[in-house]
Amino acid sequence: MVKKQKLKRENFKKRYNFKCCNCGFEQSASPSIMMTGFGMNQGHGSCRECKSFLHLEIEGGLDGDKMVSEDWNSFLKKQKIEVKPI
Ligand SMILES: [Zn+2]
Repeated sequence: MVKKQKLKRENFKKRYNFKCCNCGFEQSASPSIMMTGFGMNQGHGSCRECKSFLHLEIEGGLDGDKMVSEDWNSFLKKQKIEVKPI
């Protein structure tokens, strides 16, 4: 479960460093609208190096100072979200 946490918009950093869980490339991402707008620690993005689609979250909660990445599909499986075909 994603824990909701209220953090003022100005308390977020502009960029958070993270390492791609697939290729280890170090890069940074800005906080997602889910984080800044809804207080939910989840975001996503593509690795600049290997282009894998990644789930991103701020390590230790929204007041942390870096992000951790996880392969999108394994994140979805963990969340038990069913992806329905169109
Ligand atoms: Zn990568």
